[in-house]
Amino acid sequence: MPKKAKVDTEACIGCGLCIGSHSDIFAFNDEGKAEVVAEGDDADVEDAIANCPVQAISEE
Ligand code: SF4
Repeated sequence: MPKKAKVDTEACIGCGLCIGSHSDIFAFNDEGKAEVVAEGDDADVEDAIANCPVQAISEE
């Protein structure tokens, strides 16, 4: 099942972890914060949510 992630760009510190791990789902925006570029597999979205150091990722 695909899931759509959501990034709170106020909270995101631009560490790049989600982008490094899941470049099919996340990319840097012009401000160096993560943005969602596509839906991802459940497990990948959940992995990104669990590993973001500032809990900036959630499920849409
Ligand atoms: S893991 Fe969290 S803080 Fe790091 S770039 Fe992704 S959303 Fe931003």
